[in-house]
Amino acid sequence: MKKQFAFALAASCLAAPVFAADHGHEHGDASVAQAYIKEILNDNKTYAGAHKAKYFQDLAKGQHPRATVVTCSDSRVHTNMLDKTPESDLFMVRNIGNQMATALGSVEYGVNHLNSSLLLIIGHSKCGAIAAAGGDYSSLEPAIKKELDTIKINKGGENIEGVKTNVNNQVAEATKEFADKVKAGHLLVIGAVYDFADDMKQGGGKLNVINVNGETDAAKVKAALSGKPAAPKAAASH
Ligand SMILES: [Zn+2]
Repeated sequence: MKKQFAFALAASCLAAPVFAADHGHEHGDASVAQAYIKEILNDNKTYAGAHKAKYFQDLAKGQHPRATVVTCSDSRVHTNMLDKTPESDLFMVRNIGNQMATALGSVEYGVNHLNSSLLLIIGHSKCGAIAAAGGDYSSLEPAIKKELDTIKINKGGENIEGVKTNVNNQVAEATKEFADKVKAGHLLVIGAVYDFADDMKQGGGKLNVINVNGETDAAKVKAALSGKPAAPKAAASH
């Protein structure tokens, strides 16, 4: 019950109008923090106890992430929706609006130095950063404004459309940034939307891939994911 309330509150805080100065700010609560850090330490104890010493010794030897993931900081988005054992496999880069520009160094580190073969850019439904970027955010803090300035979407559009446009823009940036690796077949850039709200009508909670190396045609995306060569456009329609 309490958690549900906090969830609703967080969701409303992320919507653009709540960011506006005339609404003021919701405040945190130290007693909530104290209770939660207890919970976190407890969960961590369970986690640490569930693994053998060798598990952590192996992690200490180094990381070999197969994917670099650029996703939103939104608390409803986590790795457990895409990988049950993400340790050493997902190099996570998170910021508001799942952007390349605001975290380019981190993305370059994952792709160029850790040699991830997959660069996965994940947007999500009901994104507060997209809602803010698609509205008037002139009264926000300079640092937040700076991070929203690099989200290039139409003002006042549907949230899910802005989310998709932003993912496609980020993939375009990534394929440009890592053009040589993509061309050589050393890197696959995939754009997807984690749609917990089922705004794309593909099922709630589904990770919908909408872009592969800059290709957004649905049939070609599907073919690229199955590893088959894309069918010619005329033959693709059933
Ligand atoms: Zn978001």
